[in-house]
Amino acid sequence: MTSRTQKNIKVENKHPTVGLVNLGCVRNTVDSQDILGRLERKGHRIVDPDKAEVVVVNTCSFIEDARKESVDAIMDLVRLKKQGRVKKIIVAGCLAQRYGSKLSKELPEVDAFVGVQSLKKDHGQEALSLTPSHYAYLKICESCFNRCSFCVIPLLKGRFASRSVESILKDVRRMDARGVKEINIVGQDITAYGMDLFREKRLAGLLRRIAVECSAIGWIRLLYAYPSHVTDELLEVIASEPKICKYIDIPLQHVSDRVLKAMRRRITRAQTARLVERIRRKVPGVFLRTTFIVGFPGETEREFSELLDFVREYRFERVGVFPYSREEGTAAWGLPGQVPLKTKRARQRRLMEDQQEISRAFLESQLGRELRVLVEGRAPDTKDVYQARSEFDAPDVDGMVYVRSVQPLRAGQFAEVRITGALDYDLEGELVRC
Ligand code: SF4
Repeated sequence: MTSRTQKNIKVENKHPTVGLVNLGCVRNTVDSQDILGRLERKGHRIVDPDKAEVVVVNTCSFIEDARKESVDAIMDLVRLKKQGRVKKIIVAGCLAQRYGSKLSKELPEVDAFVGVQSLKKDHGQEALSLTPSHYAYLKICESCFNRCSFCVIPLLKGRFASRSVESILKDVRRMDARGVKEINIVGQDITAYGMDLFREKRLAGLLRRIAVECSAIGWIRLLYAYPSHVTDELLEVIASEPKICKYIDIPLQHVSDRVLKAMRRRITRAQTARLVERIRRKVPGVFLRTTFIVGFPGETEREFSELLDFVREYRFERVGVFPYSREEGTAAWGLPGQVPLKTKRARQRRLMEDQQEISRAFLESQLGRELRVLVEGRAPDTKDVYQARSEFDAPDVDGMVYVRSVQPLRAGQFAEVRITGALDYDLEGELVRC
């Protein structure tokens, strides 16, 4: 906790009501769930932030846009506090870690800044779920094993730390008992799991143990695999374990050798191509999601074209593109050749336009296929259309399957559908059976 003391955050009521504003990535969501679980165990009643006496805002500071969103949320709370509608404000998470001391001088209305490294992790304790009850995020490690030159995460979060197998399995058993149908395994680099504890990568073994614990849980999904940490053993588990989704999220960031080296990604273009081919060979039918950064310092038009060509050639099922964000304290901060924002945005658009065509062509190739889906709920403003996801759609980031069904379906139910239509990023289908 920085700047303000524990004493300062006491309010008159012994157990004031608490609300939480969650921002940033799904790893933050897991931290927020831990925070709420701990507060509830201490006797606080958890309510909507606009009805709470104390509001915690769990912030993000990964890139400029995220910082802006976090600051806007804090300013909204400061206004509420001035109107007497909120008694205490606590700013937690990455922004507090990075700028807590500076912000505490500028924002006296904030009662405490709790950096991400001071957040006590209650691993193995009951958390309060912020996701719909049929899916959950399971964080297996903290911080990152890598040191990409553009990334502030290792500076904010400290040393990489894998959770113990037992505490992870305890969470899995608890999720399974409460009827969760899908777990999404997250961490900054889940493929490095075990490197700190056992000096070797143990994700494959951990997945086997997790799969054994799952009875209600039908899907186990892997998010955030670091390219050069993807082992054959891991691919074999994904291919052979029926509960593991044939879906891998593997951020590649770039493919030009010069840019990859400047990014400190420890992989070349040729190795990246071989990796993608190896994954597709060993896990037939796999869906690959990746992300790229455009406009990294010094990225030339030629290097960007190399990236475009790669995306056209390897035709990833899902792609996200982000303009490079210059972050203070990172190795890339001082690199020459900063690319103007206009150019970054134009490159982002060009890559996404190409990907849109690839995605549409790919989704059209799914017409007539039968897919198992997990129902999310009724589509807004419809009578007999439901939103659902297949094993190839991660929550929040990927598309949906819109299922037509006269038979009522409920959220969290698995169903079989036949694909009848393809949009740019979504599919349409009709119920076959459930
Ligand atoms: S692997 Fe991801 S979280 Fe880790 S340093 Fe690189 S970009 Fe940051």
